[in-house]
Amino acid sequence: MKTKKKDIRALSKEQLRDFFVAEGDQAFRGNQVYEWLWSKGAHSFDDMTNISKQTRTMLDDNFVINHIKVDQLQRSNDGTIKNAVKLHDGLIVESVLIPTSKRTTACVSSQVGCSLDCKFCATARLKRMRNLNPDEIFDQVKAIDNESRLYFDRPLSNIVFMGMGEPLMNYNNVLKAIDKITSSEGLGMSPKRITVSTSGVPKMIKKMADEEVKFKLAVSLHSAIDEVRTSIMPFNATFPLKDLREALEYWYAKTKNRITYEYVVWKGVNDKQKDVDALVQFCKFAPSKVNLIEYNPIDDGDFQQANEEALQMYINTLEANNITVTVRRSRGKDIDAACGQLANKS
Ligand code: SAH
Repeated sequence: MKTKKKDIRALSKEQLRDFFVAEGDQAFRGNQVYEWLWSKGAHSFDDMTNISKQTRTMLDDNFVINHIKVDQLQRSNDGTIKNAVKLHDGLIVESVLIPTSKRTTACVSSQVGCSLDCKFCATARLKRMRNLNPDEIFDQVKAIDNESRLYFDRPLSNIVFMGMGEPLMNYNNVLKAIDKITSSEGLGMSPKRITVSTSGVPKMIKKMADEEVKFKLAVSLHSAIDEVRTSIMPFNATFPLKDLREALEYWYAKTKNRITYEYVVWKGVNDKQKDVDALVQFCKFAPSKVNLIEYNPIDDGDFQQANEEALQMYINTLEANNITVTVRRSRGKDIDAACGQLANKS
């Protein structure tokens, strides 16, 4: 029986070099193929024009290149672009290109669906179907880089892991993808321009700190009171705030990298002075800033954005305590491309 062909992009450069040596060829052939796969984005072995026909056929007999396909591209009237991306097994994830006057940011997915059950997030309704492979994450970024060049005449400048899924629940693949994105053979992007956003998995935050990663960390906090946080993010019962706090202190001690807390203020959930006070206390544990995110309604309407007054109370209290606070207005709402709206509707 014919064995299933392997995804060639699951191999490291070393493994590719070893493969060619084992085939009686030379190790540098591995470098050539690696360059085709990662720098030049080859979609088929036949694209590899400096590789002999015989070698290309041999590769085709052994491997596949599981490229993603942008199945549908939607453009918002604010310039935001949402890609529905089809994976080799037919599953779909979404990624978003967010343009501002100076930057293009890619918001990418790390899982198909999500295993967490945040009550306010549309992706949570999908459940987790599987993790994305490093090449599937890389391809989303590459596709957005191409679109940025095509539509905005400039390369991609920033990446946020704020699409579908919990990146720290697919840690190894996310790190491998970031390695590719930052390496000169991939996109050569500085890790300082990459932000990994997590709901807060303490053990994994510590692991990242130990590995001294260079990208930025954002934590979806939404409440600094356990009871409230557990009611909207049920996994907080397993990873309570004191564990999160300890992991974040550890992160800062190791990386000296300031943390961003993402925070939505909802009517009747976390819009009281006691909620802000708890946030101020939490911000003192490790150098950090707060990003207040506008709520993007998902279909059932259980949650409502707090009023301007509550928002202003947050801003005033945080500023009075010398905590940097920014307000992030939504982009791409009209095409369901904003934070928490990614749910493969199409
Ligand atoms: N799982 C990761 C990354 C994906 S969510 C995380 O939790 O950080 C990206 C951001 O969007 C998170 O801060 C999340 O809390 C926020 N978010 C989710 N649903 C939202 C919604 N409906 N409106 C606004 N922000 C939302």
